[in-house]
Amino acid sequence: MSEFISMRSLIEASYFVAAILFIFGLKKMSSPVTARGGILWAGAGMVVATVVTFLYPGMGNYVLMMVAIFLAGIAAWWSGKKVAMTDMPQMIALYNGMGGGAAAAIAAVELLGGEDHGLVFGILAVLGGLIGAVSFSGSLVAFAKLQGIMRRNIRFAGLQIINLLLLAAAVAVAGYIVVAHGDVNIVVWFFLIALILGVTMTVPIGGADMPVVISLYNALTGLAVAFEGFVLQNAAMIIAGTVVGAAGSLLTQLMAKAMNRSLANVLFSGFGEEGGEGGEVSGVMKPIEAADVAVMMAFANKVLIVPGYGMAVAQAQHKVWELTQLLIDRGVDVKFAIHPVAGRMPGHMNVLLAEAGVPYDIIYDEDEINPEFPTADVALIIGANDVVNPVARSDPSSPIYGMPILNADYAKNVIVIKRGQGAGFSGIENALFFLDHTRMLYGDGQAMASELINEVKSL
Ligand code: NAP
Repeated sequence: MSEFISMRSLIEASYFVAAILFIFGLKKMSSPVTARGGILWAGAGMVVATVVTFLYPGMGNYVLMMVAIFLAGIAAWWSGKKVAMTDMPQMIALYNGMGGGAAAAIAAVELLGGEDHGLVFGILAVLGGLIGAVSFSGSLVAFAKLQGIMRRNIRFAGLQIINLLLLAAAVAVAGYIVVAHGDVNIVVWFFLIALILGVTMTVPIGGADMPVVISLYNALTGLAVAFEGFVLQNAAMIIAGTVVGAAGSLLTQLMAKAMNRSLANVLFSGFGEEGGEGGEVSGVMKPIEAADVAVMMAFANKVLIVPGYGMAVAQAQHKVWELTQLLIDRGVDVKFAIHPVAGRMPGHMNVLLAEAGVPYDIIYDEDEINPEFPTADVALIIGANDVVNPVARSDPSSPIYGMPILNADYAKNVIVIKRGQGAGFSGIENALFFLDHTRMLYGDGQAMASELINEVKSL
């Protein structure tokens, strides 16, 4: 009977189940309605893949493995519970770095093991090691920048040449290791060069561009894991790595496209740091009081709410939803207009609104909602800036020219909640704020939403 189902087949079958759970989970993550469930399904896949590893024939060091899983599990649980929604990008950077580091560590063990893997597996091992190490150190730099630990972007003439030389050196050493099975010193040099390359590639990039870079490193980590999966002949790693690699590449592409940037521009330019350029904007910003805005919205037929990064900073989503409910109760048609890169990470606004309990059927993507702005009585912009800047449509000299925007300026009245004259991520002036039918409600997003709630209630 024991021959009937060998341990190996059980392991392979479990990996297959884990892979299906990963893909099923990822599919569910594509909609905010099912995303929470998707994370649980993918997590279950990870549990299956981890537990089944203990059954590997010849596996040892069980105590060490248990201690590592226990410590890492506690750290992940604690950090996951504690992290603020606005700090999510740096947490993802850190966890992604761990993935790249793990892939590099597997490569190191395999390369130092002295075993001859053959040419193909040798190439895959060094490739996975190189990409994993670059992703590890690069992600740590991204974390440091987003966390404010590293405040300056280090950029100087010749840096890109240094990066090219480092890459060439890493590839040359990798080739030597594959052909001549280099000793410990050579392998250590190989990883050292790769780690330095990750750092030098990332230090010049501005903190605000980091989400795109993190997404790129995420894709690279997936690739590294898949390569090491081939080396270890581990189906779960191959499938999970490929899925992460593909999803990360698509996300990187989508983010770059929604920002109207090429990946090369993100990696090699200093966008959003030098204050941006673009044409002059004429006119003055006209302030308004909360009481007047409340009247305008309470007696409107249709109000479109455009949340942005400032809503996340102010943690105003709960108050915004409370205000929305008051307006809906008064018979106002209220909808949320979400730009794909509003905030600082993909799906940032959707996550915040979901957390506040806003039903998905009143949340609309850019393509769906843009035709509705001309029929809206009020467009209420809360903490958004770049994603509603009409110069993206009209001013070819603007750095955001060509970026698809929410056409809030087409609404009959535009109300902008922000604290003062602060620029958005691109660092440029927003022509919307100076239009005749735009009024500025100055203040913190949450405080202003609370004021509007009180004013609407008092009507
Ligand atoms: P934004 O252009 O960054 O503007 C945010 C605005 O919020 C600022 O002008 C700021 O003005 C205001 N603000 C800040 N704190 C506030 C508070 N407590 N209360 C009220 N207002 C506050 O935001 P966005 O329109 O969401 O655009 C996102 C930008 O980030 C885009 O340029 C996009 O390309 C970029 N980006 C997005 C992603 C992504 O994945 N989502 C990734 C990378 C980059 P005050 O200082 O005057 O208050």
